[in-house]
Amino acid sequence: MRILIADDVPDNIRLISRMLTGNGYQLSAAINGRQALKLARSCAPDLILLDIMMPEMDGYEVCAALKADPCLRAIPVVFLTALHDTEDESRGLALGAVDFITKPFNEAVVRLRVKSHLELKRRCDLLTRLSRLDGLTEIPNRRAFDERLEGEWRRAIRFGEPLAAAMIDIDHFKEYNDAHGHPAGDDCLRRVANVLARNLEREADFIARYGGEEFICLVNVMDAKEVYLAVERLRSGVETLHLPHGASRVSPWVTISIGAALCHPTKERAPAELVAEADAQLFKAKNLGRNRVSFTSF
Ligand code: GH3
Ligand code: MG
Ligand code: MG
Repeated sequence: MRILIADDVPDNIRLISRMLTGNGYQLSAAINGRQALKLARSCAPDLILLDIMMPEMDGYEVCAALKADPCLRAIPVVFLTALHDTEDESRGLALGAVDFITKPFNEAVVRLRVKSHLELKRRCDLLTRLSRLDGLTEIPNRRAFDERLEGEWRRAIRFGEPLAAAMIDIDHFKEYNDAHGHPAGDDCLRRVANVLARNLEREADFIARYGGEEFICLVNVMDAKEVYLAVERLRSGVETLHLPHGASRVSPWVTISIGAALCHPTKERAPAELVAEADAQLFKAKNLGRNRVSFTSF
């Protein structure tokens, strides 16, 4: 795991680094507050060991800036400092630090505390990851999608780019369960999720299980034609899996219907409008006979 040490005195950095070597940690060091924030962003450390008395920007300010940034606030901060008043300690802890260790350091204590904070961080990361994954299909879940949509929406506003979403629903899936049994239905969901994920073209595209036999996708494209091609690729990807569907009225195979929508996000619009429009298009695709894409841009 990665540890960032921030201290304006190089000898302190050397001392702390020496205490922590041999444990398989990746160490990086910052010699002032600003550099610490920059490295926190670029190296994604699992723990920050932070000195308090530093020129320009002290450790308290660094901690406050870390905790105010949604991308950085999950990184645990441990103050390592010569200050040892309980007031200093409570100020540091009130700012969100997980621990406060005072000089002179006891090597064994520092090592053990670092070890247990890293173990907690590892468990936290695991919980965060699991809470955003769908248990059955192992692709992201709706919570993950909602977060991603918020982020992509803001990004699209900032860069003046369009954003597209596609709502995907397996055709006659109730009948699939009735004909093949629920465990086979589960297996079908896994295979559809897998082929959808594999057919995404761009790194920035995102697919999640929205619930039941519905999936939702975000596509980063510049125009309507690209959206259509991207989602048509998803539709045909599922069809050409040739998963037998014993009770579908539209095909001998498992198929999906897709509703897609493209818009230019603005501050006046809400991301939920994009999802609602994709859902309305899905309803159309179903009514037009299923196993097809219905698309709009608004
Ligand atoms: P349509 O073509 O209009 O979408 O019809 P449909 O039968 O697919 O839609 P409907 O909403 O009537 O039925 C969805 C079915 O999906 C019913 C439900 O039992 C099944 N389903 C939802 N979640 C799961 C799951 O996790 N596993 C399995 N096996 N089935 C599920
Ligand atoms: Mg459905
Ligand atoms: Mg369905």
